[in-house]
Amino acid sequence: MNFKLKFLGAAQNVTGSCHLLEANDMRILIDCGYYQERDFKYRNYAPFVEEPSSIDAVILTHAHLDHCGLLPKLVKDGFKGKVYATEATADIAEIVMRDSAKIQSQDIAYKQKRHKREGRKSKHPYEPLFRMEDVDQVLPMIETLRYGKELKIDTGVTIMFHDAGHILGSSSVRIEATKHGTTRSIVFSGDIGRWKSPILRDPNPFEQADYVCIESTYGNRDHKDNSSIPSTLARVVNAAYKGGGNVVIPSFAIERTQELLYRLGELEIAGRIPKVPVFVDSPMASKVTEVFKRHPELFDKETMDRIHQGEHPCDFPNLHLTRSPEDSKAINKRKGTSIIIAGSGMCTGGRIKHHIANNIERPESVILFVGYQAQGTLGRHILGGLERVRLHGEELEVLARIEKVNGMSAHADRSELLQWLKGMKTPPKKVFVIHGEERATEAFAEYVHDRLGWEAHVAVYEEEIELG
Ligand SMILES: [Zn+2]
Repeated sequence: MNFKLKFLGAAQNVTGSCHLLEANDMRILIDCGYYQERDFKYRNYAPFVEEPSSIDAVILTHAHLDHCGLLPKLVKDGFKGKVYATEATADIAEIVMRDSAKIQSQDIAYKQKRHKREGRKSKHPYEPLFRMEDVDQVLPMIETLRYGKELKIDTGVTIMFHDAGHILGSSSVRIEATKHGTTRSIVFSGDIGRWKSPILRDPNPFEQADYVCIESTYGNRDHKDNSSIPSTLARVVNAAYKGGGNVVIPSFAIERTQELLYRLGELEIAGRIPKVPVFVDSPMASKVTEVFKRHPELFDKETMDRIHQGEHPCDFPNLHLTRSPEDSKAINKRKGTSIIIAGSGMCTGGRIKHHIANNIERPESVILFVGYQAQGTLGRHILGGLERVRLHGEELEVLARIEKVNGMSAHADRSELLQWLKGMKTPPKKVFVIHGEERATEAFAEYVHDRLGWEAHVAVYEEEIELG
């Protein structure tokens, strides 16, 4: 029988997830992600390694850009098959792909203008990878599938999703192929979330597979303890309230923002913070929050209990989801304390820059970081303790208090990845380690071998493997 694997992305790096599985007569892509790491971005513009028209189906594990972001390009370049995903993944992927199309066309227009002014010409055509019309083509190709339901996608080929607990709708997928009485199976972990994180259910590992491809984003380390998140949030909000300042939180639109809302709502119900207005000032985060409201069936038990008591985790009376630029500007005119959550998460663009500009010189306000700030970003400059920063062409003095919450991550750490693997009742023949920086993948492969005695292999880009 034909059962073959080829790594086409997220192999010794963390973005651009894409793997090809040949199962019987089918050629299936698992994810078709966009590269976000600077060193690999050129691959977004290169032709696909495998001819898009030769692919029969795409399985989407979740809606992050680095897993779904090149799907419109795949369709534009000739893919005609089906796309399998959970309903929530389909909903959020639409928002993510549309947002990407919009940002790309804005970037191109800006670049063209700048080059014209500087009398330069780009080596690359002034063309986005895909446009809104290409996203429109993808949507009718998506077929949704629930967790735990087996679906036959071709003769002798079935797939099944399990909840990966990473973001809403995220899945691990098991693909099984049977021919002439022989059966082979493989599990792709997708991105694995954390046990006991708010709103989402715990990751649900598969119990059996001949082969496993597992992510390793944090394959070489364990997270800091996250038990202090509620007390840090409460302390920060209360201090800002006392001084009459704002709490400005740069946040990623998917999951982090909803987790913040969940935690703020919880603190408010418990009377640990005052009822101050909370603004989600990001069109994308607002749209994703609406998707959360539509899918309570995916929430964990604690969250469902809260809903039964009349408290929706992403909704409370003083929460405002702003859409228009006018609503956004109105936030700055408000007197008294507001909590303002906006993107981008590392302050590299978006409405957060306006809110930082309006608050950074106010000693009574707080800028609160909830996620990783990469080298060279405005977020890193502020968090790193610079006394002055440049924003919108102006030098501003950093007078606001700078705070950070540790442990808010949507990714399993090393111990949790191992816990997920231990869900297997019988050892797989081989584990392939994907989706991690070189050091993390190597360390995790070694860790799996040491702890479980299983054979673990670090996946290499464009490597092809026959699975016997
Ligand atoms: Zn992800």
